[in-house]
Amino acid sequence: MSTSTPKIAIIGAGPVGLTLAAILHHKGTKYTIFERETSATVRAQGGTLDIHAETGQRALAAAGLLPAFKKISRPEGEAMRVVKKDGTVLLDENEQQQQQQDSKDLQNGQGEEDGRGRPEIDRRDLKDLLIAALPESTIRWGKGISSAKPVPGTQQWMLEFIESDSNTENSESGPYDLVLGADGAWSRIRPLLTDARPLYSGVTALDVWISPEQLAARPDVAAFIGQGSCMMLSEDRFLSLQQHSDGSARAYAMVRTNKEIGGEVLDAKALLGLKDDEEVDWTDGKTRKRYLDRYFGDYIQEARNAVLAMTEQPALRPLYMLPVGHRWEPRPGVSLLGDAAHVMTPFAGVGVNVGMMDALELAEGIVTYVKQQEGKGDLAQMLRKYEEGMFERSQKDAAFTASMMDIEFSEDGAEKVVEVMTGGGPSA
Ligand SMILES: Cc1cc2nc3c(=O)[nH]c(=O)nc-3n(C[C@H](O)[C@H](O)[C@H](O)COP(=O)(O)OP(=O)(O)OC[C@H]3O[C@@H](n4cnc5c(N)ncnc54)[C@H](O)[C@@H]3O)c2cc1C
Repeated sequence: MSTSTPKIAIIGAGPVGLTLAAILHHKGTKYTIFERETSATVRAQGGTLDIHAETGQRALAAAGLLPAFKKISRPEGEAMRVVKKDGTVLLDENEQQQQQQDSKDLQNGQGEEDGRGRPEIDRRDLKDLLIAALPESTIRWGKGISSAKPVPGTQQWMLEFIESDSNTENSESGPYDLVLGADGAWSRIRPLLTDARPLYSGVTALDVWISPEQLAARPDVAAFIGQGSCMMLSEDRFLSLQQHSDGSARAYAMVRTNKEIGGEVLDAKALLGLKDDEEVDWTDGKTRKRYLDRYFGDYIQEARNAVLAMTEQPALRPLYMLPVGHRWEPRPGVSLLGDAAHVMTPFAGVGVNVGMMDALELAEGIVTYVKQQEGKGDLAQMLRKYEEGMFERSQKDAAFTASMMDIEFSEDGAEKVVEVMTGGGPSA
């Protein structure tokens, strides 16, 4: 049993690790974050995330960041268009969103909460908001962790760095009372607790982006997407287009290559029907057109044009998930949160929200432990309690996500999604 203020290492400065740090900082508890990337801006940060009132926003409130979040998030980004592959529009919330926005403007921003209470925020903006709330010295950039080793005879851990360099102070290696893995789908901390590894979900996405300048020159594409997102679903195909806050936009052109979870990932050549000696170059427009013709040939031209207009940052992304209901036996001093604990596909749009709830519950456990009087606290028990709650909560979201994936990749996926969104289908 440890009774002093615990020394805490958070591995990973993704949205979840940063949320944990922001709540701890707000409550006056010390921690250090170790992040593999060398800065917050080192790579493009991906798409937009909807932050739910009952989960993600609660975590931000606990960090004192809800008012700042409300200023920069985009309620209008919730506006959804659901369109069938033949162009039939089943749902378009853009007009309704505009009316809500106009009436709010008239009341100087004092109107009712817009939409479903799940405003969108670009991943980059969310991370910037959290990073700005933390003292600079608490995030150690460019410090990838390869593993952690138990300190014999104690419940403490020493960190091992992927690349040890002269800037790593000895004291940074530890010992730590808590090593908290928020290091995403391919966590290096997870193997300390379980052999489970993420499985291929059967879905691969071509991810493409269009800059604000290029999108401004293509009003047809901007109108097709609307203020928020546009989804086009059919048997084994899902086209998702989304507007970002800086005027750029993104498309995920997704194909279900395997019906079973955990099957083999189809490589780009197989996906494109190329021979072994042919090269794949996603930056070449012809390659992207080949992919779209092959898998989205029966989608209206307008939709394919929207994706073809997006020429930047093309990448092929197989999507992975941990088995639904995955859990592990507790081990003192080490735990996981966010995608490291329960990576799921994005088909219910809940991943980051589940992770931010983990951060909230774990931070509450730590803060309560710290406040307890000498001799009364038990760190290992605190972690066990956190994990029990997290397993139960995240299992529901993972099961909901898996059921949404099946719905969305069916021939009448568009109709079924509208049913779910308007309250007639399954919910988490
Ligand atoms: C295409 C797509 C769309 C999505 N859309 C949504 C959505 O609309 N709504 C939603 O709620 N969720 C969505 N998600 C899920 C969401 O992005 C994730 O759940 C969320 O990013 C998880 O955050 P995290 O901090 O746990 O992990 P990550 O975001 O993966 O961050 C992990 C961090 O750890 C760092 N790291 C990794 N390894 C190490 C190491 N060894 N040492 C140190 N640092 C390390 C990484 O560099 C990274 O900064 C989507 C996911 C995808 C793929």
